[in-house]
Amino acid sequence: HAKDLGRNGFCFFEHSMNTNAQEQLQLLQDLRRALERKEFLLYYQPKLHAPDGPIIGTEALLRWQHQTRGLIPPNEFLPLAEKTGLIIPIGQWVLDEACAQMRRWYDDGHTDWSVAVNLSTVQFNHSGLLDSVRNALEKHALEPHHLILEITESTAMRDADATLVTLEQLAGMGVHISIDDFGTGYSSLLYLKRLPASELKIDRGFINDLADNNEDAAIISAIIALGRTLNLKVVAEGVETAEQQEFLTRLGCNSLQGFRFGRPMSARQLGEQLLQEEQPTVSS
Ligand code: C2E
Ligand code: MG
Ligand code: MG
Ligand code: MG
Repeated sequence: HAKDLGRNGFCFFEHSMNTNAQEQLQLLQDLRRALERKEFLLYYQPKLHAPDGPIIGTEALLRWQHQTRGLIPPNEFLPLAEKTGLIIPIGQWVLDEACAQMRRWYDDGHTDWSVAVNLSTVQFNHSGLLDSVRNALEKHALEPHHLILEITESTAMRDADATLVTLEQLAGMGVHISIDDFGTGYSSLLYLKRLPASELKIDRGFINDLADNNEDAAIISAIIALGRTLNLKVVAEGVETAEQQEFLTRLGCNSLQGFRFGRPMSARQLGEQLLQEEQPTVSS
């Protein structure tokens, strides 16, 4: 069985076939067809200038609209997509779709927005990355600074020398780089200093219980100070409460993202939310 599966030379059955493995197999079969069946969609979460706006852009977050299982979040299928290499064509679709949407927003007057796209380790290390980024930008006639590529701190640190080369090529194109889930990896400060990144994104874990955890507050302060020293913008993700918003702003965080300002939503929903904010309903 495992042999039949190994179309890409991968085998994910390390143990005996159990129900979980059968589910995984079914998921893999479905995942292989998901692109051609157009089952993927992007949600967008607004990112705001601290303390409370305006919106400066969005982060594109992948969803899979499965025929029977409904909307599947990325954490439930991305690991499989990465193991099988399917992440490469899926990731290209994400880049193209996010750039197409950024083009629409631009044409609607959001000329200073950017869209952030997440890259997994496999995508980041893939030789076709630069071409896919260039193609997506050209296809939608988008200036590169409207695109932010998010790589996690651990992806960035995996192979420092190779990472630096890729990041320099991307930054050389004019695309912006954000270091996602910052604080969870093992950055050397010397290395961080050399990275051509423009943003640090503080991991949600530190924001979570900010209110009653002095250590998290101290870590956040340190990250913000670090960002200032290295001339990097600092974004907080996972901002849910007014208290967190106030605290992060006071510490000097540049931008904020989280359920407090909007959950990830379709571009259409985001458009509706924007309209509501522009034209408050008349109260009698
Ligand atoms: P991430 O890039 O760190 O994205 C932030 C995650 O936190 C998103 O989960 C978002 O929905 C969630 N989030 C945002 N604000 C809040 C909040 O206030 N409270 C809470 N509890 N959660 C919040 P999501 O959409 O499930 O994505 C999970 C991860 O999957 C992402 O983490 C990213 O690493 C990965 N991912 C998502 N889309 C893509 C993609 O297109 N390509 C790749 N390679 N990875 C993706
Ligand atoms: Mg991200
Ligand atoms: Mg993150
Ligand atoms: Mg994450």
